[in-house]
Amino acid sequence: MKIAIIGGGISGLSCGYYLTRNGHDATVFDPAPGGSIGSVNIEGCILETGPESWLAMKPWAEQLIRELGLGDELTGSNDAGRRTYVLRHGRFVTLPEGLQMVVPTRIWPVVESQLFTWETKFRMAIEMFRSPKAMPDRSVSEFVADHFGQEAVAYLAEPLLAGVYGGSPDDLSAASVLPKFVEYEQRYGSVVVGTMRDKRKPSGQSIFKTMRHGMGTLIDTLISRVNLIRSRVEAVSPSESGWQIYVAGHWQDFDHVVLACGANRAAPLIAPADARLGELLAAIPYTSSCIWTFGYRRSDVPHPLDAFGFLVPKPERRAIMACTWLGTKWAGRVPDDKAVFRCFSTDPDVSREAALDDLNRLMDLTAEPIFAINNRWPDSMPQYSVGHTARVAEIDARAAQIPGFSLIGNAFHGIGIPDCVRSAQKAAERIGAAHVQ
Ligand SMILES: Cc1cc2nc3c(=O)[nH]c(=O)nc-3n(C[C@H](O)[C@H](O)[C@H](O)COP(=O)(O)OP(=O)(O)OC[C@H]3O[C@@H](n4cnc5c(N)ncnc54)[C@H](O)[C@@H]3O)c2cc1C
Repeated sequence: MKIAIIGGGISGLSCGYYLTRNGHDATVFDPAPGGSIGSVNIEGCILETGPESWLAMKPWAEQLIRELGLGDELTGSNDAGRRTYVLRHGRFVTLPEGLQMVVPTRIWPVVESQLFTWETKFRMAIEMFRSPKAMPDRSVSEFVADHFGQEAVAYLAEPLLAGVYGGSPDDLSAASVLPKFVEYEQRYGSVVVGTMRDKRKPSGQSIFKTMRHGMGTLIDTLISRVNLIRSRVEAVSPSESGWQIYVAGHWQDFDHVVLACGANRAAPLIAPADARLGELLAAIPYTSSCIWTFGYRRSDVPHPLDAFGFLVPKPERRAIMACTWLGTKWAGRVPDDKAVFRCFSTDPDVSREAALDDLNRLMDLTAEPIFAINNRWPDSMPQYSVGHTARVAEIDARAAQIPGFSLIGNAFHGIGIPDCVRSAQKAAERIGAAHVQ
């Protein structure tokens, strides 16, 4: 069986790897493999063009990395220095300890915090006394405001989720983005009670994991294990024996096609074969983002850099919405005599001057950076907007009806790297099983 995988980001490459490992004839097509993942080394600093890590509690990326023989490359965030600042009235305020995403699980850090007014602290305290209820899907803003008030939306939910999804909590679906908390609401009424009951013992491992020499190591290794054609697929068409794809000026025959190029790019490819599926895929909104990474001499940075970085909530925001202090978050990525700031913005066009103005103001910097790199990611972040679960259920059902066809990637069942690897692995298993029958 010949399988074409269209798109060689982490989803397509890992699907290609699993299929090839299982003895299938799989080819990955992508003019720019790796998608948003890539690493560069500048002045001895290991920098990421896109994602810098993944959540360690989701095991699928790590399992793949170990299987590839890259176990020694795995490294965890420096959690001893784990602290995040949030900008409030122009000053850095520590994010209270014990927060699980937007849910407080310890009383004193919240009581003592300067991040919230007494009204919000009171809302957080009485949230424990809610009764169970089932609600239709609603936005993250509505969900969080209902439980903790509007200030918790502005100073917790918005900056935390914008960093992950690059979108607004007014649009994101609570059921898709905060599924555990929605379940607690239904079971206990209170998400605080649900989170405290479910509080797992710390595993002892770091919260975030990455690759010692950069995330690009994973991509390079996957590329070396798959059959990759660095070309863009222009069209896809069902044929009598399976599928034809139009690439590099020719039609080529395949038995199975996997679309791993993002819902927005998959939509026009599949629409001629299934217009409704094309419509459903096109209905998944995408947002853009941009990363400016600035390197300095450590001696030019007066701040002690005693945190992973800072978040800038919308009411306080100019250009930067989050900044990671790389040398504090990761051991071995930034030499001691340097300081590196990775500045994230949801405005894809943010200029060097605007990002630097913001950074200089917030970090009291006066020296010029010794390097600056910019990575823009237009239309790269699928938004799990209200109704996402229902939309994806229809997408899955329609895709399953199309013979020899699979859809994978970050737009459906999880946006993180481990979720992408899991979706690829599951598709490879399904394709393998169908081939055996
Ligand atoms: C700036 C940024 C920061 C992120 N940070 C994190 C993080 O810290 N942790 C985390 O877990 N996740 C993070 N993510 C999310 C995660 O990186 C992505 O969800 C994941 O990499 C998506 O992989 P993918 O293979 O599904 O899609 P993509 O990486 O988008 O790959 C799709 C590929 O399809 C190719 N393609 C498109 N059209 C065609 C065509 N017609 N023919 C052939 N190829 C085509 C493209 O060239 C691309 O390489 C981040 C994302 C971004 C953008």
